[in-house]
Amino acid sequence: MFNTPILNSPHGVMLMPLLPNALASVLPTAFDADQRYSVDLHMHSTASDGALSPTDLVTLCAGRGLTHMALTDHDTMEGVEEASRAAQQAGLCLVPGCELSTRWQGINIHVVALMPGGLQGPMIEGLEQQREARIKRAEVIAERLEKMGLPNALEKARAQAGGDRPLGRPDFARALVAEGVVADWAGAFKRYLGSGKKGDVKAHWPEISEAVGWVVASGGVAVLAHPLRYGLTRRKRGLLMDTFMEAGGQGVELVSGQQNPDATRDLARQLVERELYASLGSDFHFPGSHAAPGSMSPVPRTAAPPIWQHPRLAHLRDAPSGMLGAKPLNQLS
Ligand code: AMP
Ligand code: MN
Ligand code: MN
Ligand code: MN
Repeated sequence: MFNTPILNSPHGVMLMPLLPNALASVLPTAFDADQRYSVDLHMHSTASDGALSPTDLVTLCAGRGLTHMALTDHDTMEGVEEASRAAQQAGLCLVPGCELSTRWQGINIHVVALMPGGLQGPMIEGLEQQREARIKRAEVIAERLEKMGLPNALEKARAQAGGDRPLGRPDFARALVAEGVVADWAGAFKRYLGSGKKGDVKAHWPEISEAVGWVVASGGVAVLAHPLRYGLTRRKRGLLMDTFMEAGGQGVELVSGQQNPDATRDLARQLVERELYASLGSDFHFPGSHAAPGSMSPVPRTAAPPIWQHPRLAHLRDAPSGMLGAKPLNQLS
């Protein structure tokens, strides 16, 4: 169903910084101790609302000793090709991906799509749909902010974004700060853009089941992103996981950035009950934040299998270096 992954290239092997047996030790078959892993499967670049270019992000990850990373920009895989080149140079293993904006029971839920075969299948059309949704949504957010005291909101957010990528709420947050409407970024979300506020427009996103369907039908692995950050009760979080699984979702971020260890252990039980795979990621956006690449809270001992044990990602474990999924250097346009 998906392309044979490129496990290494002449460039990647030449520059490989770690021995294969060192990699094997960071990718075990189970999470069997409170240990840290040189793996980060959730990060953003300038292809969405991250501060670093894909190349600079990969360089930072390599410098921090990561062996495996996924680039997961919001609703786009535009940064993956550049990141793949950089990963080959740096000799680390890049998993192509993105973070899909979806809806479930009126809540904006994020799904990390790990796409070992790159952008293919129904995801191509799905991401085109997300792009159009994001453009239309930005117009609605702008109209609402204009009514609330930010004239020419769309132009101002566009200026903050730089380039021509579809806008996100962080671009509007920066515009609100730049215009002095709010004192800081946190205030922009608290008053205008955060969950339940006027600028939190979600009507354009697909139902979670539809988005998960794109991922699975395209050879990818769908991972429920940061499940502790939606303000859900344990019971409701379980219902979300059930819906996600029924749609074909396979993994859940057991650790996202910094988490309370008790909350993580409790979440692990919900994964084990459902036989879901466990993923982990920093959700890194910019240097200086507390969530540097690879700086997640430790994973507790749990029977939930690591996401790299999923049959569609199992080749990650033995990948000595280089990129996964994308085309070799000499085939990149
Ligand atoms: P969007 O993809 O346009 O819906 O924007 C979502 C992004 O906005 C998230 O990925 C975060 O980077 C940022 N964000 C969302 N909520 C908050 C918040 N309460 N405080 C700070 N940043 C937030
Ligand atoms: Mn973001
Ligand atoms: Mn998210
Ligand atoms: Mn994210």
